[in-house]
Amino acid sequence: MKITILRLGHRLPRDERITTHVGLVARAFGAEEIIYAGQHDSSFEESVKRISGSWGGAFAAKYTEKPANLVREFKKKGYSVAHLTMYGIPLPEKADEMRKAEKLLVIVGAEQVPSEFYELADFNISVTSQPHSEVAALAITLDRLMEGKELERGFSEKFEGKISLEPNERGKSVRKR
Ligand code: SAM
Repeated sequence: MKITILRLGHRLPRDERITTHVGLVARAFGAEEIIYAGQHDSSFEESVKRISGSWGGAFAAKYTEKPANLVREFKKKGYSVAHLTMYGIPLPEKADEMRKAEKLLVIVGAEQVPSEFYELADFNISVTSQPHSEVAALAITLDRLMEGKELERGFSEKFEGKISLEPNERGKSVRKR
């Protein structure tokens, strides 16, 4: 399954850390790229590039000025669209159906998400019906979509990074290429 993340409403300086954490989780939990909308933030793009440069893989951050148009384009390219929102249908009820998609665009918001995205989405998905964090919502959604494979030993090998870690009971085993 090819997964792309769309992060709406990036605000400077308020969302700098959270959007970076959305990017880090997206990359580590199996997504192929993150596209963000809102305020352009080259330092966010640079930090994602640095992480992929050191830890491997081709994960990258791209900017879009027109997120709704991007969603329409992705749908034309055969992507299913899942919008994460506390108002949505509980994830466990839709995870199997979402997993059937070959290509999935997962949307997380920042500020209030315009109703247009609720309409465009094939799935409006809640990770509990309580307000919390886009980082947590994305992590749990990706974990369910990946059926936990991203947590297993060896998943990280696919990144083939300059830096990689050998799981260790107590210490730190860092491998550098
Ligand atoms: N309103 C606050 C603000 O302005 O910063 C935060 C908005 S909320 C934390 C940001 C995003 O987190 C939402 O758009 C949604 O994508 C995600 N989110 C938060 N709680 C969620 C939940 N229970 N289920 C699914 N997604 C959730």
